[in-house]
Amino acid sequence: MTFIPYRILLGATPVLVDSEPDTWNIDPELLEEAILDRKAKTGKYPKAIVPVALYGMPYKADRIMEIANKYGIPVVEDAAEGFGSRYKGQMLGTFGKYGVLSFNGNKMITTSGGGALITEDEEHWREIMMYATQYRESYPYYQHEKIGYNYRMSNICAGIGRGQMTVVDQHLAHHKHVQALYEDLLKDVPGVHVHSQPNPRSLDYARDDKEEVPVYDSNYWLCTITIDEDVKVKGQENAYKTIVTGAVGGAAGVIHAAESAHTDCEPNANVEAMRVALDKAQIEARPVWKPMHKQPCYKDVPAYVNGVSEAIFKVGMCLPAGPYVSDDDVKYIVETIKAAIERA
Ligand SMILES: *Cc1c(COP(=O)(O)O)cnc(C)c1O
Repeated sequence: MTFIPYRILLGATPVLVDSEPDTWNIDPELLEEAILDRKAKTGKYPKAIVPVALYGMPYKADRIMEIANKYGIPVVEDAAEGFGSRYKGQMLGTFGKYGVLSFNGNKMITTSGGGALITEDEEHWREIMMYATQYRESYPYYQHEKIGYNYRMSNICAGIGRGQMTVVDQHLAHHKHVQALYEDLLKDVPGVHVHSQPNPRSLDYARDDKEEVPVYDSNYWLCTITIDEDVKVKGQENAYKTIVTGAVGGAAGVIHAAESAHTDCEPNANVEAMRVALDKAQIEARPVWKPMHKQPCYKDVPAYVNGVSEAIFKVGMCLPAGPYVSDDDVKYIVETIKAAIERA
């Protein structure tokens, strides 16, 4: 059997498009370049565009939809992290042909696992539900016209989700509050920057009574900071000296032992030293997501890069922001960050 490395799960070839500096999401101009270059190289337009709301931050939905419509490419919004975020007043997940939400344990609300797919099209919804339930036809016995999946949500999970819907507004308010607190408490720390949404205002075109709203209304699912390379963090000379075991990997105690403490694309030493300092203070912080084109499993897929996601990965860090993070916790986290920085 031949192993075709670029064709993943569904048999599609992913094409990666780099980030833009302000939202950290897909760069719409680079997206258009990628579309045109794919057309030139393969004779075909991509089958779908998948913008991701990174850490809940809205992508430039109107520009992405404009490009998608120009070339007739459907948009599947990955709003897994962006449940409750809005762009120009409109909920993420409702711009594209489909929107996808995640209710995994760490998301804005949870059903323990699973998620939701949003579509306005009843026909499509019916077909999707067929696929999600093993494509079982209506006979007294199992009859499958097509090969489906076992992706439906169990009634127990759905019940948890219905309960969670009663706290979603509180969770959204809490995440925004925690973000504002980080922004306030970290504003005077030199070289440490809280990643915040751009702040222009616009008319809410989703409403009849057109009201002025912020263009970006992030749910701030995760709070992220960047640490300038010249910030000296205590112990950074020892960063990456030992192989970390099980920081994010594995399940049920199963991990692959890493071969080396380094990879060819990793956060700066001061960021790793900060992570270790926070870890020692019982605070779980993590680097921001590693760029997909730097993941070994995607090393050979077509990628349109501009250096932005790699630059962010070197300096970025995610801070705790969940429903149990109190004001005192945020103060403690910020104090720990300050204490870890070497004074000039
Ligand atoms: C969590 C997440 C997913 C996957 O969601 P699951 O429900 O865990 O499968 C997909 N995309 C993004 C951006 C996510 O954060």
